[in-house]
Amino acid sequence: MMDFKLDDSRQVPLSALQHYAYCPRQCALIHNEQVWAENYHTAEGQILHQRVDSGVPETRKGIRYERGVSVSAEQLWLTGKLDLVEIDLVTGEQKPVEYKRGKPKVEDWDRIQLCAQALCLEEMRNIQVLEGAIWYWEVRRREIVSIDESLRDVTLAAIKSVQILLSTGVTPLPIDDKKRCKGCSLIDLCEPDKFRRDKSSSYVNGIFSE
Ligand code: SF4
Repeated sequence: MMDFKLDDSRQVPLSALQHYAYCPRQCALIHNEQVWAENYHTAEGQILHQRVDSGVPETRKGIRYERGVSVSAEQLWLTGKLDLVEIDLVTGEQKPVEYKRGKPKVEDWDRIQLCAQALCLEEMRNIQVLEGAIWYWEVRRREIVSIDESLRDVTLAAIKSVQILLSTGVTPLPIDDKKRCKGCSLIDLCEPDKFRRDKSSSYVNGIFSE
């Protein structure tokens, strides 16, 4: 386990990493202000996770499948629930598997979330996790992810960023990305267009007052 300690005593939910990746404001609204609104995307994601969660542990062909595994890693200040952990009964190797609604993305955030799960497992079960997997529902594809040093470093930095955001209690301004806002479940509560309009009107007022 890498040496890593956060100043604040608040645990970061694993899901906050994903929300932070999408938009820091969304992360703060959900985890600091407890705001949540369902839209098509989140509803679909929840159905997928309910299906994954509903299974009981089973063993097939030398692999034990544990579903809906709760984790709480005190050294990392992380908490959450893993979709699936696969345990090879011959080698003892344990592998977190994360289910995603969409398809593989260019950004690293799915891998960062998976790595955070691996770090939780390592701390809780005193093991070393070498790799994990992401199952992309839309394209029915399983991607193997190596939990290497560089991914670990990026993940620890990301966890820290989220922890800082949540401990300040400050909700960041809307992001400047209309496409992402359109797919965001909090758009009606966040009103990013209103902010953009206000911003442009104060910009225009600023020009005329100079
Ligand atoms: S609507 Fe846009 S700015 Fe607001 S929380 Fe969602 S993604 Fe962020």
